[in-house]
Amino acid sequence: MDWHPKEQNQGPGHAVFQNPSRLLAWKEEKNKYQLQISGNLFIQQFLRLLIKWQPTEDIKKQYMEKVLHTVFFFGKLHKRQMTPNDFLEPRSSQRLQDMYPQSFQQYSTHLPSLTPYSILLQFGNEVAGCRTQEEMETFLCEFNSTLQTAMKQQTPNLKPSKFTFRAAIVAYSFYREPHNKAGSPLFYGASLSCSGLLERKIMISILCLQTWHRAVAFAVYHGKDNLAIVFPDGVQCRAFCYSNGAFKEKSPCVNCKKMYHVNFQPPPDDTMENVQWPHGNCAENESLSKLLHGMPGLQYRVLSTHTPPLNTYQAIEQEFLNNIETRLRNQLIRLLQEKDFPHLSLEFFQPQ
Ligand SMILES: [Zn+2]
Repeated sequence: MDWHPKEQNQGPGHAVFQNPSRLLAWKEEKNKYQLQISGNLFIQQFLRLLIKWQPTEDIKKQYMEKVLHTVFFFGKLHKRQMTPNDFLEPRSSQRLQDMYPQSFQQYSTHLPSLTPYSILLQFGNEVAGCRTQEEMETFLCEFNSTLQTAMKQQTPNLKPSKFTFRAAIVAYSFYREPHNKAGSPLFYGASLSCSGLLERKIMISILCLQTWHRAVAFAVYHGKDNLAIVFPDGVQCRAFCYSNGAFKEKSPCVNCKKMYHVNFQPPPDDTMENVQWPHGNCAENESLSKLLHGMPGLQYRVLSTHTPPLNTYQAIEQEFLNNIETRLRNQLIRLLQEKDFPHLSLEFFQPQ
């Protein structure tokens, strides 16, 4: 691709740092540039995946529509609102627009249901057929390292950690009946792959309302209230941190430890301190949600730490329908208002 964004040639020695409003403008511009590069590379790498795995035209269309829509959506939310053309060079933009018009028409009116990296996990599972930890890690390592190489070539001065759509942590959960050797499939989740606190809060509200299992939405919603979800014996959740081309096991953070009573491996570290990210940010949420959606009947064995008799799954679901859902909607509407996003009717993007 011959598209090059503006180079950032102003360092800390520059006069811009003497003036607070110019400093803020410089930071916003730098952040926009990172989002621009990240979106461009994510789209390009996804197009490569489609060439490599050759799914049917229908499946290709579904994935590309979701990827484009969610990248453009984060561009729209940015302080310096971006359009699809900010992410793509003109020829490629026109070609993609002809092929996937809906993403270009609805990125500024409809909400996505997944972050970019979660779409990648879905692809790894549904199209690339990754079933084991090893298969999924190989798939993700390959994607991450091709992306990193492309990033180095295009922008040698940008660190990989500045890649906006990267999920540093992935987790999987599974269920194995006691005394039974064979377990369920592995259900993978990723940490939120978007940047900006407001963006994260918007995405967490969307996921709780639209995508995640109600028990997970309940746990996230009550994150600050010391109410947890209790999983039956036999459910295990393992998280991994990606760094330097490999995945390393990782204990859950203090938020996840409080929200989910489940067999974490490795177990929570007792010296854990408070964390900066909001409840719902971690990979464990998506992973446990997929497990509950994917294992029929398991949800009825989930309890909350609410005082009985209000701790059953039926009570969790009732509270979601009676109370949590409306509050999440109102919260999401408020957050979208702050971003000047049309919010009167919350409509979700549906690939065709
Ligand atoms: Zn966590």
